[in-house]
Amino acid sequence: MQQAEIRVRGRVQGVGFRPAVWRLAQQLGLHGDVRNDADGVLIHVAGGDAAIDELLERIQREPPPLARIDRIERRRTDATCPSGFRIVESIGGPARTQIAPDAALCAECAREVLDPDDRRHRYPFATCTHCGPRLSIVRGVPYDRATTTLAPFPLCAECRCEYSDPADRRFHAEALACAACGPRARLFPADVAGDAVAAAAALLQRGNILAVKGLGGYQLACDATNADAVARLRAAKQRDRKPFALMARDLDVIRRYCPVDAMEARLLTSPEAPIVLLRADGCALPENVAPGLTTLGFMLPTTPLHLLLLHAMERPVVMTSGNLTDAPQIIDDAEALERLGGVADHVLTHDRGVATRIDDSVVRVVAGAPRVLRRARGYAPAAITLPRGFADAPDLLAVGGELKATFCLLKDGQAILSQHIGDLEDAATFDDYRHMIAHYAALFDHSPAVIAADPHPDYLAAKYARETGLKLIEVQHHHAHVAACLAENGRTIDAPPVLGIVLDGLGWGEDGTLWGGEFLLADYRMSRRLGTFKPVAMPGGAAAVREPWRNLYAHLLAADVPSFGIPSDKPCTLIETMIRNGVNAPLASSCGRLFDAMAAALGICSDRQGYEGEAAMRLEALACEQTLRAAGDGYPMAVSHWIDPRPMWHAVADDLARGTSPAVMAARFHLGLAAAVTSMACALAGQAHFDTVALTGGCLQNAILLEHTQRRLREAGFAVLTHSIVPANDGGLALGQCAVAAARLIAA
Ligand code: ZN
Ligand code: ZN
Ligand code: FE
Repeated sequence: MQQAEIRVRGRVQGVGFRPAVWRLAQQLGLHGDVRNDADGVLIHVAGGDAAIDELLERIQREPPPLARIDRIERRRTDATCPSGFRIVESIGGPARTQIAPDAALCAECAREVLDPDDRRHRYPFATCTHCGPRLSIVRGVPYDRATTTLAPFPLCAECRCEYSDPADRRFHAEALACAACGPRARLFPADVAGDAVAAAAALLQRGNILAVKGLGGYQLACDATNADAVARLRAAKQRDRKPFALMARDLDVIRRYCPVDAMEARLLTSPEAPIVLLRADGCALPENVAPGLTTLGFMLPTTPLHLLLLHAMERPVVMTSGNLTDAPQIIDDAEALERLGGVADHVLTHDRGVATRIDDSVVRVVAGAPRVLRRARGYAPAAITLPRGFADAPDLLAVGGELKATFCLLKDGQAILSQHIGDLEDAATFDDYRHMIAHYAALFDHSPAVIAADPHPDYLAAKYARETGLKLIEVQHHHAHVAACLAENGRTIDAPPVLGIVLDGLGWGEDGTLWGGEFLLADYRMSRRLGTFKPVAMPGGAAAVREPWRNLYAHLLAADVPSFGIPSDKPCTLIETMIRNGVNAPLASSCGRLFDAMAAALGICSDRQGYEGEAAMRLEALACEQTLRAAGDGYPMAVSHWIDPRPMWHAVADDLARGTSPAVMAARFHLGLAAAVTSMACALAGQAHFDTVALTGGCLQNAILLEHTQRRLREAGFAVLTHSIVPANDGGLALGQCAVAAARLIAA
């Protein structure tokens, strides 16, 4: 007989950890207890040495589905345990443990909801320990029913039995509920009797637009095969071209529109259940679902409510966030009725509150790995364990960038990256961002002494950081991109520098100009610019970001190529004067603007982009596998101390004169860029010592560019680091800022 104390750290609360330990202890005949506390789970155990060993081993081998164990420590104690094994109620105290992300409906709950003999048949809020809402309903810690938006719903006798029985799948499932005691769905206008969800499903089938209160906020839905309904939704939402996400009942329905490979199917059916971007060449859905694109974003039902809504539907539905243009997704019921009531024909709502607004995540499989493009529901706020060497860093907050904003807390060597919040230029989004920072600080008991930010003088996040009065560490935009890539790849703090290749839109450079196509020799602490794209004017500044023709004009002028592809109503003489005199035409070494210029040359979004990145996404969609095979080496670009695309513009002009198809030209552009970037890396390897390259920046969400650049760099002998769990775009900046600031503090 001996006594031991076992400490388990990680995501171990609210995921069924204590009952799993209880069941194992029963089987192994051990005595003692298990409890949640501020550090995670604490187990006191008495029994034979071999049985305690086995308990430890099995906890690690078969943890509950949503648990993530970071560390287990065991030590001997003299404290005697009472006989039997029991689960001790939670106690408060400073939180140092993790809040789990929201998890999609599990298979068992789905089966119960569809089973006419089950007591939760057709109940839209069924959940258990292995699935359901977490972050979206949490108001405080420790994670307990009383601190969630389920607090106003006292459990009925049957639910209480399930909640109190360690052998039950719903033991301490804080969000559990049933039709007798839990939240209820309601349909507005209230002209239907009976099952609100069934009535809503019928309305959806008949072509109506529905506002639906989902997990992390309201969504807007309509039949995706109904072009009129989709057009009505676009008009009402004031969103003319940005692609809509889709939801389908099951994989079979998705496969009618897109091929789904094994990795994509695994992502779709995972507890994270993101939107997965799938290839959809010649797809039968109306063009206005995703105008000009050859990918569709699909997800499966993430809650019982969604399952019930779609169960009878053989067709996919549009499921987009419930907001107008770029405002934050609506979570408040009164606001939804008022503002979405005019957009939607009906509103399907319910009385379970949303504590934290959270959007759907977006993932795409590229070059054999999942790439998170938008990290939100299902992923946030799962902690990212920083590589060895970061454990000693003090707590800090990194505030991220301006577009696709996220922030990141550093605590005990763990990086807690927030969910995608949106573009801070929108005032309501900026409010939400500040509110969310405060919410996370409370949830994670985080009070940083240091704050990390982008040095851009106009970024609202950076202004926010300066106003806190905390010790400020500024991290250059593209250095942060590289550091995010290093951190998620587990690169240790003292590893030698890599060549960071940052193919990006725009970021504030060290010299006060705009950068965006950079070759940086970098580790966590420092970065040195070895190479860049040749800077080209952005006539009109911010206007050039919205209007691709401006970039085309500037590039053609720089290349001394007679202009083409410029819409006839544009003030070219004025623009030329602006560029020549350097008036409101800042120079930028941006890869993103090069994409815009090339898209404009092919007549894509030349006049205006409907959303950020549209021109580049449509350019990518043009180049298919056949044209990539037929495109040869791609367009020539001169590589010296910078990448100079001027030779390309001559070749593009020749191709246009020859009547070359836009698809071939788009392919040549991508291949030429991948080749130029690789030549640059090879040339720089002669000047500085590195054997590893990190590929990052918003342009590397482009599958063709990522795939071809990675392959060529590997063929040239480099080890290549890429993004997978953190976005390559500005959504990953906060993680990089966090790592750089921590590394500098540890060095100091
Ligand atoms: Zn479940
Ligand atoms: Zn109940
Ligand atoms: Fe960026």
